[in-house]
Amino acid sequence: MRIAVVSLFPQMIRDALSYGVVGRAIERNKLEVACVDPRDYATDVHRTVDDRPYGGGPGMVLKVEPLVAALRAAEAAFPARVRRILLGADGRRFEQAIAREAALWPGLILVAGRYEGVDERFVEGEIDAVWSIGDYILSGGELPALVVIDAIARLLPGTLGAAESAEQESFSDGLLDWPHYTRPAAIAGRAVPEVLSSGDHAAIARWRRREALGRTWLRRPDMLERRGMSAEERALLEEFKAERAHDAGRVESSFVR
Ligand code: SAM
Repeated sequence: MRIAVVSLFPQMIRDALSYGVVGRAIERNKLEVACVDPRDYATDVHRTVDDRPYGGGPGMVLKVEPLVAALRAAEAAFPARVRRILLGADGRRFEQAIAREAALWPGLILVAGRYEGVDERFVEGEIDAVWSIGDYILSGGELPALVVIDAIARLLPGTLGAAESAEQESFSDGLLDWPHYTRPAAIAGRAVPEVLSSGDHAAIARWRRREALGRTWLRRPDMLERRGMSAEERALLEEFKAERAHDAGRVESSFVR
């Protein structure tokens, strides 16, 4: 898959792409990321890419012409038209389902805004969708672009090793992940749940399912409501609630909820 990022800070994108799963995806040629800087397409001596907002007010707005020129340069490297996505807090929430869909596309172009944002005529004329990574304001679209790239890269076939799996992660089936533990078996008076050392695979799978349901119920009841539950899952969740009610040592503060 090929992703092009239109950004005023291409080095910020490049630097972050060399690590971990994404770095590996690039190394294995599963993913190619190219950056295009609109400043390289500004036509005046000052390489101006922004201007004051019509109607007054603080901040600057990214101009249409350098953005369009950068977009055309980014497009030129694709054999066919790909989707053009603007990162914006006013966009559709980027979620795992969108990442899964995008991982099937041959490529895409991500446009990172800066300052107050981009001239709306660029959005109307050139952009297929606006994606937000959450209800907060960042200084630029570079971090959101990196978030999108990372989420997509780990879904590309052959990116994750055999020991890792995107299928068992949070959101894969509408639930959060279950808790994980590693050695030592006990630390600071806290022991690993006994069932996990039992060797009973069915019991472990059942416990994990129950914890995933319980954790989702505690922290993301909205997800559970949307997803619904089978009769068996309802029973597992009731078991989780009952155990929790009797477990005075368990710390589930409003912070973790
Ligand atoms: N005036 C804009 C608003 O109120 O929505 C905020 C602009 S923000 C300072 C600059 C750029 O950062 C945006 O154009 C966008 O590309 C990016 N950005 C900021 N927050 C974002 C978010 N939550 N999701 C995606 N992109 C975001």
